[in-house]
Amino acid sequence: MKIRIDYDQTTKHVELTDEQVEPCPFCGSTDIALCNTHNAAYWMECQECGAQVDGQSFAGYADGNEDERHFESARSALSTWNHRIKQ
Ligand SMILES: [Zn+2]
Repeated sequence: MKIRIDYDQTTKHVELTDEQVEPCPFCGSTDIALCNTHNAAYWMECQECGAQVDGQSFAGYADGNEDERHFESARSALSTWNHRIKQ
């Protein structure tokens, strides 16, 4: 999978700008958002029916590179979403 990610250090939010996201398995929508609440815990959410898949959460971690934790959580949310859809 090839994804490009933009990270806004001010808002602490990762944007997936060139990603492959599978359509929603429930409603078929391709309007899928990557969400977080200013910490490194991301989830994918269908903007049509509200279906959600959580990525790995790094919220509360204090060590290491915070930016990298955001990327890591965002990637895991995306891959979990896509993996679940394909099963
Ligand atoms: Zn949906």
